[in-house]
Amino acid sequence: MAEVLVYVDHVDGAVRKPTLELLTLARRIGEPVAVALGSGAEATAATLAEHGAVKVLTADASEFTDYLVVPKVDALQAAYDAVSPAAVLVPSSAEGKEIAARLAVRIESGIITDAIDLEAGDEGPVATQSVFAAAFTTKSRISKGTPVITVKPNSAPVEAAPAAGAVEALSVSFSAQATGTKVTARTPRESTGRPELTEAAIVVSGGRGVNGAENFAIIEALADSLGAAVGASRAAVDAGWYPHSNQVGQTGKSVSPQLYIASGISGAIQHRAGMQTSKTIVAINKDAEAPIFDLVDYGVVGDLFEVVPQLTDEVKSRKG
Ligand SMILES: Cc1cc2nc3c(=O)[nH]c(=O)nc-3n(C[C@H](O)[C@H](O)[C@H](O)COP(=O)(O)OP(=O)(O)OC[C@H]3O[C@@H](n4cnc5c(N)ncnc54)[C@H](O)[C@@H]3O)c2cc1C
Repeated sequence: MAEVLVYVDHVDGAVRKPTLELLTLARRIGEPVAVALGSGAEATAATLAEHGAVKVLTADASEFTDYLVVPKVDALQAAYDAVSPAAVLVPSSAEGKEIAARLAVRIESGIITDAIDLEAGDEGPVATQSVFAAAFTTKSRISKGTPVITVKPNSAPVEAAPAAGAVEALSVSFSAQATGTKVTARTPRESTGRPELTEAAIVVSGGRGVNGAENFAIIEALADSLGAAVGASRAAVDAGWYPHSNQVGQTGKSVSPQLYIASGISGAIQHRAGMQTSKTIVAINKDAEAPIFDLVDYGVVGDLFEVVPQLTDEVKSRKG
């Protein structure tokens, strides 16, 4: 069976969920061979094996942390040369897309970014994309070279599929460009203790209706009662009420949680583009005509300042 390279996103050996989703998709088109780089690369092997990786190619070098993406592209290309895969799958993060694009240029292959599904096809894998603010769904396949495809988080289920996960050291020689862009400082973002927005099973979002940065405490309290991540509309983010990193939508992050709760958000098409594939959608809005209600499974017409705290109390009381 053809091998499929899966680029691993991990933090010190802890594999992030979008990579496990890639393994599910990779198994549809071949045998997943994972490529894990940097500190903790070998520690990823057990999790990757549990989810279907037949092999885990690892490399660690200071270049991966000291310089921006090129050393990682060099390593992924080394894996490509060693394996001659049927496809290369990369998580659709900003870094992932840059790595994938650079690899595609080097190996003279076509690339598809931001796929939301992947299936085997007679002439190579067929990727599904959701485009024009999710107004259209397209299916495409790559007609030149080895398909390089980036896949958005929450596009596939995480499935246990035990495989050998044999660790092999990858030999990487860095290109002249590898040290072209040096990282000069690194400041960790303060942790909120909440799940990562794109990976969370529940997202609670606030919009212009929240009416001020200080009022986001109401949204955070509901999120914390549910173990959820906090999202925001662009209006709320542009007003400076919540960080840009939490924006959901066409120009923000795409989320597809089990439950999405939108409070004081009208449901503009650009916001919907980032959340309309959520499994269950709940909206709280004081305007019964708000377009978000066209999309919801459950809608509450009411003032969020009354509804959200009651909901938080109810969740807490049911949890005992
Ligand atoms: C190119 C482009 C890209 C964009 N990308 C994004 C994007 O990524 N994400 C995004 O979100 N937007 C994006 N936008 C902006 C988008 O068009 C909307 O302007 C934005 O989503 C509106 O945010 P909102 O729903 O919070 O605000 P509004 O549209 O102003 O809606 C606020 C809602 O809150 C309700 N409300 C007010 N007070 C209360 C209350 N007390 N209780 C309950 N409900 C209340 C109102 O009835 C209203 O429905 C983009 C726009 C463009 C042009």
